[in-house]
Amino acid sequence: MKKVHNFNAGPCVLPDEAIEAGIAALKDFKGTGMSVIEVSHRSKEWEGIMEECESLWKELLHIPDGYKVLFLGGGASMQFLMVPYNLLNKKAAYLETGVWAKKAIKEAKGFGEVEVVASSADTVYNYIPKNYTIPTDADYFHITTNNTIYGTEIKHDIESPITLVADMSSDIMSRPIDVSKYGIIYGGAQKNVGPAGVAFAIVREDILGKVSHYIPTMMDYSVHIKDDSMFNTPPVFSIYIMVQTLRWLKKNGGVEAIHKVNLRKAELLYNEIDRNRLFVGTAAKEDRSIMNVCFVMKEGYEDHEEAFLNYAKSHGMVGIKGHRSVGGFRASIYNACPIESIEALVKCMQDFEKQILG
Ligand SMILES: *Cc1c(COP(=O)(O)O)cnc(C)c1O
Repeated sequence: MKKVHNFNAGPCVLPDEAIEAGIAALKDFKGTGMSVIEVSHRSKEWEGIMEECESLWKELLHIPDGYKVLFLGGGASMQFLMVPYNLLNKKAAYLETGVWAKKAIKEAKGFGEVEVVASSADTVYNYIPKNYTIPTDADYFHITTNNTIYGTEIKHDIESPITLVADMSSDIMSRPIDVSKYGIIYGGAQKNVGPAGVAFAIVREDILGKVSHYIPTMMDYSVHIKDDSMFNTPPVFSIYIMVQTLRWLKKNGGVEAIHKVNLRKAELLYNEIDRNRLFVGTAAKEDRSIMNVCFVMKEGYEDHEEAFLNYAKSHGMVGIKGHRSVGGFRASIYNACPIESIEALVKCMQDFEKQILG
């Protein structure tokens, strides 16, 4: 089915199987004689999908007892607000690793003091700050594990003396994580686990109920926990495709297996960037993301940027233009991006190099 090599940052490439299953369910959902977007979300057929969704999450990420997985509207951007609504009494600590982190910080400031423990803004967020101290008097510490725009990633679970909250929008399910180290993990689905329209939040239940301010009903995690993400009508079609995407992941060996593939895919592309005389990577090597690979033309060859974009486009590459704040190129190589697409991009880079430099 795929006719192009899709490197879009989000929404992005999804497994063919998930899309085919979506098409089938749009016509007839589980033999109900109705489309999946026509059935009642209170029907037992739909409730089966919601249950399967949560149980796939729990199985694929080995989520321990005491956590609930929520599926909510509003995207990761609404989680920027929901997190402080539910957790921030006096003070929160944030690591500023990009504009998404900055947006999360902005929302938290409406609820109390925000301590930015470190920032890599000075170098357009091309590395992950280290050697910072997490204040023990803050209500939580917030990190953005994968910085989609800059191609940097916190690839290991960090130790935090206080509740750890992570925006994992663009690396969730790409590598194994120890969920027990986190109080909340959230993100938009559209980068690695489904289409736009639904956000996930993995919430440790015992951290809730500790703030003194009023929490509006729709902002309150405990309301959504009590009603199994069905306090109001959930984004049914987005959730349906998410379930199909997770089924595909499970069938392919789960997170541990896809992680190995992801490492191979990233290595292939980074090796070419490092070898090629025309290109250079923008992220600090030790912090390179395995999901978003950012690179630019080497000094002296900047004039060829447009030509390379056109050359890649003519060979079926889609979505490799870098974010405007970084420039150059970005290849998002999420779980469903096949290794063949990366091989095709590498070949493009090699052929273009020969054209320019002989
Ligand atoms: C895309 C992205 C977001 C925003 O997600 P929405 O679902 O569009 O609100 C937040 N954080 C990160 C790391 C992202 O990549």
